[in-house]
Amino acid sequence: MSKPISVHKFGGTSLGSAERIVSAARLLQKAAARGPVVAVASAMGGVTDVLLQAARDAERGRLAPARTAVEAIRQRHLEAAQGISEATGKAVEFDGKLLAELTTALAGISMLRERTPRITDLVSSFGERLSAPLVSAALSALGVPSRPVDARTMIVTDDRHGAAQCDRKKSDPRIRRALQPLTAKGVLPVVTGFVGRSPSGETTTLGRSGSDTTAALLGAALHASEVVIWTDVDGVLSADPRIVPNAHLLRRLSYREAAEMTYFGAKVLHFPAVLPAIAAGVPLVIRNSFAPKGPGTTISAKGNPGRGIRAVTAISGMCLISLDGGGMAGIPGIAARVFGTTARIGVSVVMFSQASSEQNIALLIPEADRARTVAALDQEFRYERLTGAMDGVKARVPIAIVAAVGDGMRGTKGVAATVFDAVARAGVNVEVIAQGSSECNISFAVDEGDRAAAVRALHETLAAE
Ligand code: ADP
Ligand code: ASP
Ligand code: MG
Repeated sequence: MSKPISVHKFGGTSLGSAERIVSAARLLQKAAARGPVVAVASAMGGVTDVLLQAARDAERGRLAPARTAVEAIRQRHLEAAQGISEATGKAVEFDGKLLAELTTALAGISMLRERTPRITDLVSSFGERLSAPLVSAALSALGVPSRPVDARTMIVTDDRHGAAQCDRKKSDPRIRRALQPLTAKGVLPVVTGFVGRSPSGETTTLGRSGSDTTAALLGAALHASEVVIWTDVDGVLSADPRIVPNAHLLRRLSYREAAEMTYFGAKVLHFPAVLPAIAAGVPLVIRNSFAPKGPGTTISAKGNPGRGIRAVTAISGMCLISLDGGGMAGIPGIAARVFGTTARIGVSVVMFSQASSEQNIALLIPEADRARTVAALDQEFRYERLTGAMDGVKARVPIAIVAAVGDGMRGTKGVAATVFDAVARAGVNVEVIAQGSSECNISFAVDEGDRAAAVRALHETLAAE
């Protein structure tokens, strides 16, 4: 039997320059010496942000800065190609033809003064479409047969532009048909991360940081032995190192812990990447491309039980909606009506809590959905507001959700007390509390201004691993 494939994804900082691309190609070369490899490339660091800004400029009719951005992107990739040539001693060309298509898309936005989610996806797709051929060229220059592959030929998604979901039934056979013949011939495919295609043929994207999900989807379809996510930190840490500089490396995480951490803001991995990995039982391994000898973090079904809280995460940009009123206890199905309303307008409720007195309901939603959620709830409960059973719908921003995560929390007594003691001692006021149904997470809402203090105070209670 042939060896299983391993999938290796490189994030933007790991492909930020010619030097970084060559070092990624060398890591791929080493992996390819052990067995068949499929690579996934993100856009060069910062390019997606530049593309999205260019689209916003074009929408305001400011075509000059949008064109300057295209030129800067051209220059960056040209320099990368030259640097790869110098480092490898082999000529590597940058094919700028794609940039004409980008310029046309931006001109279209500017002419219509309209930036739809569909055209935004097309514009932001160029980062990966430009980087994957460079990574592939660097591999060929090192003597590793390689080919760039546009993920849009394989990954079929729904049409939720900006956060599209993959249709695995349709995509898996396409992925296998496209990639297995290449790896069987000893060719290393470099697939564009982040992008897909809707059933009607439009370019879609899987959401910011979505290249992780591309890698997991390929790994699941190809029954890979592992999906390695190369990034700029040693692995998944016990907290965001930008908030807690002495956060420690977590060598092993269960899928559930990883799902809770990434859902509640650990940016090191795109949350939807965990799902195909679970479904296929493929381990995700997070490693540092700047220090590749490190062990990294292995995320698999086998966790690290019995350790209580293992990590602290936080998400910003939330809005706290509350419904209060002395007469609410008598209103039937109120929670169901709240959820019915948010579902109807397509707003996702990140956290929900109902006081046992039934006089207060609180929900946390993305800040961007605040106005339409308040309007829809006001409308839904107009009768109750008129009769005075409910005081009205209040919204507070900016709010953050802080979460403590660990499989072992379930069997450990007094975890909640530890969490709220620590937070209280830091002088942080907790707005709403929810315990996830999986019981390996306690999450609570705080004012955005208290987010960092709450994370640091909670992290102090963690044991080193
Ligand atoms: P890439 O470009 O490789 O996809 P990202 O910026 O998406 O990298 O993710 C890596 C970053 O995630 C790290 O540099 C770190 O600042 C941030 N991060 C947030 N929370 C965590 C955490 N718990 N563990 C590790 N990194 C984290
Ligand atoms: N380039 C995309 C982003 O910046 C996807 C990714 O890097 O994973 O969000
Ligand atoms: Mg990322």
